[in-house]
Amino acid sequence: MNKGKKLYEGKAKILYEGPEKGTAIQHFKDDATAFNNLKKSIVEGKGVLNNRISEHIFNNLNQIGIKTHLMKRLNMREQLVRLVEIIPVEFIVRNIATGSLTKRLGIADGTVLSKPLLEYSYKNDELGDPLVAKEHIYEFNWASVMELKLINDYSLRINDFIQGMFRGVGIKLIDFKLEFGRANIDGKKEILLADEISPDTCRLWDLVSEKKLDKDRFRKDLGNVIQGYQEVARRLGIMHEEGNISEVKFGKPKAVNIKE
Ligand code: C5P
Repeated sequence: MNKGKKLYEGKAKILYEGPEKGTAIQHFKDDATAFNNLKKSIVEGKGVLNNRISEHIFNNLNQIGIKTHLMKRLNMREQLVRLVEIIPVEFIVRNIATGSLTKRLGIADGTVLSKPLLEYSYKNDELGDPLVAKEHIYEFNWASVMELKLINDYSLRINDFIQGMFRGVGIKLIDFKLEFGRANIDGKKEILLADEISPDTCRLWDLVSEKKLDKDRFRKDLGNVIQGYQEVARRLGIMHEEGNISEVKFGKPKAVNIKE
């Protein structure tokens, strides 16, 4: 499928004009960035895995009635998606406290939250994606009351569903980020889940060993980044026809500490 002009280039993806009005092609890169672009690298094969993992999750979410931008996967690195007007808010869902939540509030890392916690941050790299309240979202017209209500509901349903999906394959869903956008479909304004859900945007820990299988391997220099992502894909049953994933170099096997 021929790509149109580049519409936007983000840290891990590029968006091109799609073949028809209202469509776009989302291309997954191998670039890895963290700490607001201060740390950068290439993780060979990451884009291929994120494309497949995100496709798998979005297709499953479609089946439970969550509307998403995904139309179809085109190839190893690209998806045909509906072009949406992105709501400039990152919706973060947390089940276990870690990352910026523990840093910000001094909560012990690994604290199990009594119920999923939904946070909002303003999507703005220059400002470092600051945390905002729903009042900011209304005040600056980032989303209406109705839209936010729908998105909150979607976010918690997505959490329930994918938490179960990952648990079924021995993975704990610690937290993740969602993005939503507006699209006009058959003359009707719809809110669609956009962007991606992948080990770049989720924290995923092995259920037993608590080994990290996500971008924290890159952020914290834990090594074997691609192996973590491959493990997620393998457990979800997604692996694969592709030849251009980098050669797998597993670290030395370690005994798994089973907690009593
Ligand atoms: O860093 P923090 O603890 O706030 O991240 C919470 C979750 O949101 C993590 O799973 C992280 O990967 C994801 N996230 C993201 N993109 C951002 C910020 C956070 O995917 N810009």
